[in-house]
Amino acid sequence: MFDALAESLEDAWKKLRGQDKIRESNIQEALREVRRALLGADVNLQVVKDFVAEVETKALGADVIAGVRPDQQFIKIVYDQLVEVMGETNVPLAKAETSPTVVLMAGLQGTGKTTATAKLALHLQKLERRALLVATDVYRPAAIDQLVTLGQQINVPVFAMGTDADPVEIARQGVEKAKEMGVDTVIIDTAGRLQIDENMMGELARIKEIVQPHETLLVVDAMTGQEAANLTRTFHEQIGITGAILTKLDGDTRGGAALSVRRISGQPIKFVGVGEKVEALQPFYPDRMASRILGMGDVLTLVEKAQEEIDLVDAAKMQEKMMSAKFDFTDFLKQMRLLKNMGSLGGMLKMIPGMGKLSNEQLSQGETQLKRAESMINSMTKEERGNPDLLSSSPSRRRRVARGCGYGESDVSKLVSDFTKMRSLMQQMSQGAMPSMPGMPGL
Ligand code: GDP
Repeated sequence: MFDALAESLEDAWKKLRGQDKIRESNIQEALREVRRALLGADVNLQVVKDFVAEVETKALGADVIAGVRPDQQFIKIVYDQLVEVMGETNVPLAKAETSPTVVLMAGLQGTGKTTATAKLALHLQKLERRALLVATDVYRPAAIDQLVTLGQQINVPVFAMGTDADPVEIARQGVEKAKEMGVDTVIIDTAGRLQIDENMMGELARIKEIVQPHETLLVVDAMTGQEAANLTRTFHEQIGITGAILTKLDGDTRGGAALSVRRISGQPIKFVGVGEKVEALQPFYPDRMASRILGMGDVLTLVEKAQEEIDLVDAAKMQEKMMSAKFDFTDFLKQMRLLKNMGSLGGMLKMIPGMGKLSNEQLSQGETQLKRAESMINSMTKEERGNPDLLSSSPSRRRRVARGCGYGESDVSKLVSDFTKMRSLMQQMSQGAMPSMPGMPGL
């Protein structure tokens, strides 16, 4: 099924390929395929509609990048939008300033909440954080036993008071116990129901009120598909969540629930569960999930190719700019980032004739120097980046930059003078003179 999806997406893009630019008339079919792909990945219908509308607006408003085919530009827009909606980067678990950090786990029964509680404790252990687990599911004795067994397995203490105590009281005492023990995190497992149920919600709300958690994580089974949206909405409206854990991603779901959960709650997915074992927890990465939702590796390869094209076009533009007197520190920074995008500096330099003989040591030295240059440029004001001469003529500006980045004033002076030399050599070259190979500033 995945292959069929990736193929139909490719068909739609192929049709775009013959066009000179993205227009309303030629984009419709590609948008329909994106819609199908997302629905096929179990993204909630309303979320899909909004998403496709946003992609359309972005695609139609996108500047034509000369040299980049519209289909490549389009897939990059879809992919970037997915990553953006899912939050761009990984958001780690909160850490309270004063111990313990309280984490409340919420979710329906069978989603993997208890397993995730133990998985999280193991994850924290690897970060040298110690956790206490609290068992408040008094309705199913097996649930308490399960947590105790998991705790033993990973050597993490479990606080339980049997099945006669009030869950709110267990949670309260659990947090007290954590303080007494001096552990830095307490993770409270709660009772789930097969469906959303007023009693369950009421109890969760009371526990939340009493323990004032730093994190309330909704555990969502990725196989839930479309329903993940309603589930998230209800939990978020009634309890208020700060993040989610998406479980059972090792199954054959494409993980569309991730998009729905994030979109509806506005809160990040923090982890994904990828198996029954306690080790099977991974931080959530939006970019990986984006390619999974779009139909696995094929799409990622397409996106990578598109990115390369865009980089190449950018690089050509940059070269033009380098040859002009307008080249400034902002361009230089951009150029460095381009180099990084296109692979390691070492790899790039090796491709330049005459550079192949550089030793690995020299290459890594070069990379270090470039990083230093980058942090110095980051300490400059926008004005200084745009006009390096300001720095050439003002020692006090150079001192300020040096203080900002933690390097010496002489390092900043050297960067500025190297840069100015390079720029004038570039200009000479563009006027037909052939000076010797200019060095990069900082090298
Ligand atoms: P709870 O009722 O929400 O506490 O759910 P449990 O933690 O008891 O898990 C329910 C079932 O799902 C158990 O059989 C778990 O082994 C299984 N499970 C939990 N997380 C995952 C996961 O990430 N992948 C897979 N394949 N199974 C999981």
